[in-house]
Amino acid sequence: MARLSLTRTGSTDYRDYLRSPAWGFRRVRWFRDARARGCEPACLVCQLTLDEAGSLDLHHLRYNGVGRDPATGAWRAREAHEDLMPMCRAHHKQLHASLDARKEYLGWARRRATVHIVVRLIRRHRKKTP
Ligand SMILES: [Zn+2]
Ligand SMILES: [Zn+2]
Repeated sequence: MARLSLTRTGSTDYRDYLRSPAWGFRRVRWFRDARARGCEPACLVCQLTLDEAGSLDLHHLRYNGVGRDPATGAWRAREAHEDLMPMCRAHHKQLHASLDARKEYLGWARRRATVHIVVRLIRRHRKKTP
């Protein structure tokens, strides 16, 4: 039941997830792992680094691995590392403005729509900063 409603109503439930402690810990772990691999996290669009920005957002390419524990109802954060994408706040907002408008991307998988939009944002960013 819980899983069905999760996929059906998607964004509402994920908004709850994004406020959960499980996601808070997952975020911290993502940044720690990235640095442990020797890579400084940076916005995929403008390359603003975590150090420069102070904090970066993580965008979900997909929510595979995220769900609630059937017994306790607590969120479980088991996203793959690659399903999370670092972005500065400004570009993350721009991404969602397109993604959530849902006219152009209606029926698209979130991952595919995200990649499409990010490529456009990168092109736009390069034009602005030669
Ligand atoms: Zn950016
Ligand atoms: Zn996002």
